Amino acid sequence: MLIETIIARVVRYSTLSSFTFDQAEKITAPKAPGKPIHLYVHIPFCLQLCPYCSFHRVSYEEELARAYFRALRYELELYHHLGFLFESVYIGGGTPTILLDELVKTLELINTLFGPENISVETNPDRLEKSVLQTLSSCGVQRVSVGIQTFNDSLLRRIGRYEKYGSGKELETRIRQTLGVVDTLNVDMIYNFPSQNEAMLAEDLEVLARILPDQITCYPLMVSDLTRREMRSTLGKTGLHSEKRFYHTITSHLAGLYEPSSAWCFSRSGESMIDEYIVSTDEYVGAGSGAFGLVDGAIYANTFSIEGYIASLECGEFPLKGRKSFSARELARYTFLMGLFGLRLDLDAFQERYGKNLWCLLGAEYLFFLLTGGIRRKSGMIELTEKGQYYWVVMMREFFTGVDNFRELSRTTAGVPCSGGDDPLC
Ligand code: SF4
Repeated sequence: MLIETIIARVVRYSTLSSFTFDQAEKITAPKAPGKPIHLYVHIPFCLQLCPYCSFHRVSYEEELARAYFRALRYELELYHHLGFLFESVYIGGGTPTILLDELVKTLELINTLFGPENISVETNPDRLEKSVLQTLSSCGVQRVSVGIQTFNDSLLRRIGRYEKYGSGKELETRIRQTLGVVDTLNVDMIYNFPSQNEAMLAEDLEVLARILPDQITCYPLMVSDLTRREMRSTLGKTGLHSEKRFYHTITSHLAGLYEPSSAWCFSRSGESMIDEYIVSTDEYVGAGSGAFGLVDGAIYANTFSIEGYIASLECGEFPLKGRKSFSARELARYTFLMGLFGLRLDLDAFQERYGKNLWCLLGAEYLFFLLTGGIRRKSGMIELTEKGQYYWVVMMREFFTGVDNFRELSRTTAGVPCSGGDDPLC
């Protein structure tokens, strides 16, 4: 546990420093890198907000959502004018499928402007219908990811999803009825909820073993500090003491049925989608309110204020509100973290990218994980050991919690409506 605690602290600290933005009067858009990169698109609207969720999401209002989609399409056009090329697209939320006609128009524009090779879309169980997936498929979507979280009815009630999306049995039926419509159907699960025990988790895994979706992503519960405080009164106190045991329950249940494709993602075939596009892409643009991009060694962040986002684009301006440039060492650390989250890192590709080998740039990190048994060297690669897979779960949990804390702070101060004030992204 000591090693995991050290890892968690270091990642939490470095994530905090990564999201301290450079001081600048006005953020200009990044230059197009001259090669196809990845596009992340954020749709922040949800019909009802879940109590454990720290994403950038707001309650759905149709008029506002339609104005948002119009602004989003304009933002995509601005990137096209700058010469950006996108080979892959991930549309996340929120609930991207909340207004299917607007999503379809947006997908058509993406196809016309960029002609990406693959498109992934997140959805919620209420939109997990054959007709919806067929519509998405006809717009070039190959991969759909649905947030299920658990099949346990008492837990679904406690997290406010039973009334919204139905019982565990109904969720199971919806997945069965939609398997095979798109190339990959990914099911998102969450473990380590307060009051969840080993038997409940094992039952969830048994349901999955019966349905056999193309891919399963099992996230440990990740909550920002503010959400954690709020959750105490609804779901109970969160803790980490069971997380490692639960993770091993998951890997042992899925062994033989699924191959790991990242530290928390398991695929039926070796080449399914990986839910975290940041694993497989060095550079990406973030479009939509609260979206982040990483281009030319810098993080770019859009405003978290929905009205501010729409207003900027109505004035023909990028809604960028934060920028942070990284040193070569910080970028190398990011590549090390994300590459190994996808289980292995190519040492030659790393050296080619940074002009120095891993020892020179990240000797301390390399040595630490070799000595603690988290990584091993194998023919030009380093790869995660079984122990290392859990270390990376801890690191990614801390990384995303750090990002969630930043989002929470920015959303609270942006306040929707944005009050200006001290908010770095308002
Ligand atoms: S968990 Fe999903 S549905 Fe619930 S509030 Fe968050 S983004 Fe919306």
